[in-house]
Amino acid sequence: MELRLTDEQKMVQQTIRKFVEKELMPLENDVLRNEREGKPSLPPGKLKELQLKAKEAGFWGINTPEEYGGADLGQMMLALVYMEVAKTFVPFSFGGSADNILYYANEEQKKKYLIPTINGDKKSCFAMTEPGAGSDTQNIKMTAVKDGNEWVLNGEKTFITGGNEADFVMAIAITDKELHKSTRGREGVTCFIVDRDMGWKSEYIHTMGEWGPAGLVFDNVRVPEENILGELNKGYNLGLEWIGFARWIVGARAVGAAERVMQMSIDYAKERETFGKPIADRQAIQIMIADSAVEIDAARWLVLNAAYTLDQGEDNRHLASMAKLYGANMGNRVIDRALQIHGGMGYTRELPLERWYREARLWRIYDGTDEIQRVIISRNLLKGHVKLGQFI
Ligand SMILES: Cc1cc2nc3c(=O)[nH]c(=O)nc-3n(C[C@H](O)[C@H](O)[C@H](O)COP(=O)(O)OP(=O)(O)OC[C@H]3O[C@@H](n4cnc5c(N)ncnc54)[C@H](O)[C@@H]3O)c2cc1C
Repeated sequence: MELRLTDEQKMVQQTIRKFVEKELMPLENDVLRNEREGKPSLPPGKLKELQLKAKEAGFWGINTPEEYGGADLGQMMLALVYMEVAKTFVPFSFGGSADNILYYANEEQKKKYLIPTINGDKKSCFAMTEPGAGSDTQNIKMTAVKDGNEWVLNGEKTFITGGNEADFVMAIAITDKELHKSTRGREGVTCFIVDRDMGWKSEYIHTMGEWGPAGLVFDNVRVPEENILGELNKGYNLGLEWIGFARWIVGARAVGAAERVMQMSIDYAKERETFGKPIADRQAIQIMIADSAVEIDAARWLVLNAAYTLDQGEDNRHLASMAKLYGANMGNRVIDRALQIHGGMGYTRELPLERWYREARLWRIYDGTDEIQRVIISRNLLKGHVKLGQFI
């Protein structure tokens, strides 16, 4: 067993770290100011410009198969890359990628949706959650009824990331009520690719963070038969696969952000004096620094193990839940401590800590809440699907 990064992994980590420090961190003040003024975080065209710079550094389609022009870095590399990118709150995403489930598209759909998404000419979103069905994804109500060569979609979706900007949505709807009931939601639902101009409407949802998802309304939206993604009545598994992809990555992001705010806290503690001494000399501050360092590394290993396991072609769902649950909570604790170490300054909008504090709260909710991760982890152990210490 080797517990150190390879030279290649170190090189990727260093390259992306330099990119983040040189291209993204200098934009932080502008991003904060724009957000405070209710403007988009980055001016139009800026994301594309940054993506092209990342491309020059070799980061394009980082998880996209090579046959589609991607770098297909593998999961360990992805984990390292996401940890580095999360050291800034500048809303950057790499160009050249598409949702994992879009690769189930047939050849026609690939030409129409997958390739333009990879090329950045189309934006997608994925919609499973409804006002009455979040954790309980098997309880969705949106229906699709066949009419000739088309399906007619009716219902609502909520909290859809990218739903305000997307050109098309991959929406999950019930296509066979009996099957849906008899399989307790596991079958009888289908994933439809629905262009915005087929008639669905979106509305911005204001949240406590800068991340504004959308509510979507489908009122007799007619979708051609050829827009079924994957198989009829088998859309539930696609939904789980979409959610599962991002799960452990939430942990990776938490590690990166936590590292950054802890470094800020260490620097601040050495320079801020109270009662004639730097606060770094106070045991109360040292305890916060020590606890945070231990927890960041614990989360890092969980994330790397989840990534490594997937690279080995093994089922990483148990580890992904553990990495997400622990990482998200670690991130919240560490950011809270960083804010505390900065005292009143931590609470101001002069520093980005309050912004991270608000963003981090989301990590415990989306892609499966803390409680749902605990349900999954305990169920796996109680039913004997996994054993303690299995994944080493
Ligand atoms: C910013 C944001 C972006 C999102 N992006 C997307 C997206 O792109 N696409 C999409 O489809 N969805 C998206 N979601 C939805 C997200 O996945 C759901 O909000 C999440 O799964 C929780 O569902 P809910 O909000 O309905 O809470 P509920 O399911 O109503 O849960 C409420 C509370 O009850 C707890 N609870 C529920 N069931 C159990 C149980 N069995 N045991 C113990 N406790 C339980 C929960 O943990 C939570 O604390 C997004 C959400 C947010 C906030």
